[in-house]
Amino acid sequence: MNDVADMQTTQEAAERIRVQGLVQGVGFRPTVWRLARRYGLRGSVANDGQGVSIHVCGPVAALDRFAAALLREAPPLARIDRIEREPTAVLPQHPDFRILGSHATSIRTGVVPDAAACPECVQEVFDPFARRYRYPFTNCTRCGPRLSIIEAIPYDRATTTMRAFAMCPQCSAEYADPADRRFHAQPIACHACGPRAWLERADGAPVAVDAFTMLDDVDAVCTLLQRGHIVAIKGLGGFQLACDACNEAAVARLRQLKRRSRKPFALMARDVETVRRYCVVTEGEEALLRSPAGPIVVLDATGPERVAESVAPGVKTLGFMLPNTPLHHLMLRRMDRPIVLTSGNRSDEPQCIDNAEARARLGGIAEYFLMHNRDVARRVDDSVVREMAGAPRVLRRGRGYAPAPLSLALGFSAAPAVLAMGGELKNTFCLLRDGRAIVSHHMGDLEDALTYADYRSSVEQYLKLFEHEPRIVAVDCHPEYLSRKWGQELSARWGASLLEVQHHHAHIAACLAENAFPLEGGPVIGVALDGLGFGTDGTLWGGEFLLADYRVCKRLGTFKPVAMPGGEQAVYEPWRNTYAHLMAEMGWARFAMNYAELDLYRFLEAKPRRLLDRMISRGINSPLASSCGRLFDAVAAAAGVCRERVTYEGEAAVALEALVDERTLKEEDELLAYPFAIPRLKSVHLPYVEPLAMWQALLGDLLLGTPVPVIAARFHKGLAVVITRMVDTLSREAGGDKPVRTVALSGGVFQNRVLLEQVTARLKAIGFEVLTHRHVPSNDGGLALGQAAVAAARSLTNSQ
Ligand SMILES: [Zn+2]
Ligand SMILES: [Zn+2]
Repeated sequence: MNDVADMQTTQEAAERIRVQGLVQGVGFRPTVWRLARRYGLRGSVANDGQGVSIHVCGPVAALDRFAAALLREAPPLARIDRIEREPTAVLPQHPDFRILGSHATSIRTGVVPDAAACPECVQEVFDPFARRYRYPFTNCTRCGPRLSIIEAIPYDRATTTMRAFAMCPQCSAEYADPADRRFHAQPIACHACGPRAWLERADGAPVAVDAFTMLDDVDAVCTLLQRGHIVAIKGLGGFQLACDACNEAAVARLRQLKRRSRKPFALMARDVETVRRYCVVTEGEEALLRSPAGPIVVLDATGPERVAESVAPGVKTLGFMLPNTPLHHLMLRRMDRPIVLTSGNRSDEPQCIDNAEARARLGGIAEYFLMHNRDVARRVDDSVVREMAGAPRVLRRGRGYAPAPLSLALGFSAAPAVLAMGGELKNTFCLLRDGRAIVSHHMGDLEDALTYADYRSSVEQYLKLFEHEPRIVAVDCHPEYLSRKWGQELSARWGASLLEVQHHHAHIAACLAENAFPLEGGPVIGVALDGLGFGTDGTLWGGEFLLADYRVCKRLGTFKPVAMPGGEQAVYEPWRNTYAHLMAEMGWARFAMNYAELDLYRFLEAKPRRLLDRMISRGINSPLASSCGRLFDAVAAAAGVCRERVTYEGEAAVALEALVDERTLKEEDELLAYPFAIPRLKSVHLPYVEPLAMWQALLGDLLLGTPVPVIAARFHKGLAVVITRMVDTLSREAGGDKPVRTVALSGGVFQNRVLLEQVTARLKAIGFEVLTHRHVPSNDGGLALGQAAVAAARSLTNSQ
């Protein structure tokens, strides 16, 4: 009241205020409307091509308070990147404050990620007196489906899969009322007018309703899970398979039927208190679990209770999420323990999204289906996040994060439109325009035919959704990548230029881009450690030290190239790498002479060594690879971890990291960390990481019967030491009188928490600025962003 009184004595002014960022489809205009009323302002608010445009008039002091409140009280899903205020002499035409309709140009910022059910909606769903009591599709402008239901632009009910449901009068009234939480919430619905959920049996027989004492079909699922059944559930971005996570028989059956190797299953629990019984949850991790993105958070599984062994064999972490839709909240209300909730597919195929397709493909796995009749427009997998080196890091980017744009450094805004095709495994693609990059949701491994088909249609969908007309198509150099082949085809079809970006350069550029590193920020030392990528010399790389900026990159150092006997087979049989490493370092005779007591010796002796030797010496199906990932495999297998075979790339490294003894890591003398040397590679005069001394120390430890967790810790620490030394040396050599002081860490190997934390801390301790990944994965899921940034930067040079 007082505010209004003293404002009336001050002078009036008019302003145009432009707000940029994620401000459309998130309830921003009603917030503006509410604030304008609070401060007694007249005018209007509208969406337009760049964001939200506000025209206001009122006392000068009130305008300032209004602008401050906009920042402070923006809706939870909004992200304000910029606010510009400009005085104007033109006064608003209306005597009050109005919300104007979206202009047709509101495309560029129109698609926001799906958001987990907000606390208000959850409360409503559990309130017996509320209109939406137990309604599984409750949502508002602060939460609910977005990307997963949108079919075309602009984002309007008619262009989503909600168009099949006509709003009832009550929902219409809420939709039209700016004071309501559901004002312009496109997927608004209720029992009377919206989608509904029902239970089916996989064998087609009717569900015996009287077998349950249940409130409704959603509630019945809880009973089924408690009785050990596997249930397929239609979630937000596709079907999921669920079972009781504490029932070993159910989990093992699910693993077998789904033909899912040993990869850990994700879990869902009704609340954080339940999660804490199994895992330690830090404050930051709790915030992540509860965030609107609602990702799977990888947690240390050191709580007092245990889930079934088959949930995550050989791993000391568990991936937990909280319910992200009212349907999940309702389903888990009575469940006092976690459930497995994994994507509804068989092995590496894409997740089912369609009811008929799910019945056909998942019928052999699930015994029951929780169906509903709201179509999923686009498969969106759950996101995975892990807190490492003091920050949350996205390991897989899907539901809740994609397709929120990433803002690149200012210099990029002049670049032409780019489409980057990504890699082969863990694929994503990227659209870049106006200095903003839209990285697609996680697609998966293109080697699977269904995933590849899904990828191609998703590229088309994104181009339409964002009205993106690429002038450059960026691809990986690998001649066999399907993403590259498709990129070539598209560029030819459109007459767009095709640009190749080397795999590890793309990794480093992705790290620079997401950190908004300046376009002309000068070169950095890029450390790109991963499994395999195609090098500029036609060989396989995977442990590279680069001098890189956005445009060019130079290989300064590497890991020792070692043969991969059997090629692809070496990725799935870690011992092959151990054998190749030992032969490269010391040969069989020396190994036999010194280490014949080891069971590693007996194991390798029983293998067809002659054949392997011949393959390696003649280079038959045994490509040389300077791969850090393969070094991890070799070391893990030597220590007896995942020796015979792994079921997914990187499994051995994950298992080795899980074993690391923290006390050895933190307290043991640095001298006991395994040593590496840095000689120069004769052929190309490159310094490289030479592991001979490491192998001698490790094999010596094996002879002494040193516990594997200690071995794992000494290896991680030694590797961090040599990486740091290499960076330090190279930065001096490369910079000349102007040493390079910034390091970018990328590649799938840096999803290893121990290594990332060790390397980051050591580099910072000697004065380096360290850039790491947070918003896109450091693995190949981030490649597309890097490719796009390189293509944009190069085009800007060419046009100068
Ligand atoms: Zn809500
Ligand atoms: Zn309704």
